[in-house]
Amino acid sequence: MKKRVGLLYGGKSAEHEVSLSTATAVSKAIDYEKYDVYPIFITLDGQWLRGPQLTKPVESIEQLQFKSEEVSPNNITEFILDNNSQAQFDVVFPLLHGTNGEDGTVQGLLEVLNFPYVGNGVLASAAGMDKVTMKQLFSVAGLKQVPYVHFIRNEWNNGSEDLIEKCECDLGWPMFVKPANLGSSVGISKAMNREELVKAIEFAFQYDRKVIVEQGITAREIEMGVLGNDDPKVSVAGEIKPVTEFYDYESKYKDGSTALIIPAEISSEVESTMKDMAVRAFKILDCSGIVRSDFFVTENNEVYINEVNTMPGFTPVSMYPLLWQHTGVSYPQLIDSLIELAIERHTEKQ
Ligand code: ATP
Ligand code: MG
Ligand code: MG
Ligand code: MG
Repeated sequence: MKKRVGLLYGGKSAEHEVSLSTATAVSKAIDYEKYDVYPIFITLDGQWLRGPQLTKPVESIEQLQFKSEEVSPNNITEFILDNNSQAQFDVVFPLLHGTNGEDGTVQGLLEVLNFPYVGNGVLASAAGMDKVTMKQLFSVAGLKQVPYVHFIRNEWNNGSEDLIEKCECDLGWPMFVKPANLGSSVGISKAMNREELVKAIEFAFQYDRKVIVEQGITAREIEMGVLGNDDPKVSVAGEIKPVTEFYDYESKYKDGSTALIIPAEISSEVESTMKDMAVRAFKILDCSGIVRSDFFVTENNEVYINEVNTMPGFTPVSMYPLLWQHTGVSYPQLIDSLIELAIERHTEKQ
């Protein structure tokens, strides 16, 4: 029997566009002999729109962006359950990045509806999305990371001078300022001095009520993919070489100038340190299915974990699928594995 797969994409998030590219790519690669595919588009303002069943690859992104006039309006649960409260899909594939998608909220909805879904559960998604919580858990796992300071908007409004001083005291220049809950480098800036730091913090607060300031590190950026549930497998490593000041939104998705070098040229020692750290990060966050772990590797071969992404970029030219391709798992095989892992996790929980 063919499995019915609900593709969930778009989303009320700064990473909406990225998700649309991912959905387009998945629609092109998924095996229509094996799966009945149903698209569910979440608009930027949060409306859920279900389109007609996909029976072949879409030709363009626009084809996946339904207009509310064209499809019958429904409430969220009706997308997933039919009139008899029976599941309309065998598995849901959330191809959502960032807020309301990668952060545990959609995962919570799918849990409540008792649905198998691809990727990380509520806890891992939420903890992985919040860079402060993530780093605190990494510390518990004994993973090496750069020093950081964090605060919420209210603390900043009531004591920005003290907080700037704390940053200068605890961290060296340059500093990286980030909204705690985002991805794709949205809201992130590099600050070289006090004045830039204040600007960067105010900018990051436009995206989140919590901000993290990290010590900048001069290092290579190397990533690894993790795939699995209880016994996760790790891919080969890949290096990112942005030509810009850092790996910002433009270099990730727009200008195509960033080189991805796979496999990365690293010693077997560094590779095994990274593998060990990637698995420890996966386990401390209680991840499942899919994770991309991002590392900094210094000239002296010191390895720092930067972050994990619980729904990494997933187009065929994104790092995660490319890492698996070089490890011997093709893009369509990766889609199959993730669907199988989703069903396995759901079955084990019952
Ligand atoms: P994504 O989820 O798309 O991987 P993100 O928005 O979660 O990205 P980070 O990976 O934390 O953001 O940072 C984005 C980029 O900024 C990094 O890839 C790196 O180029 C640079 N960067 C971040 N933190 C530091 C740091 N402490 N030192 C040096 N460079 C940094
Ligand atoms: Mg990230
Ligand atoms: Mg991300
Ligand atoms: Mg990153």
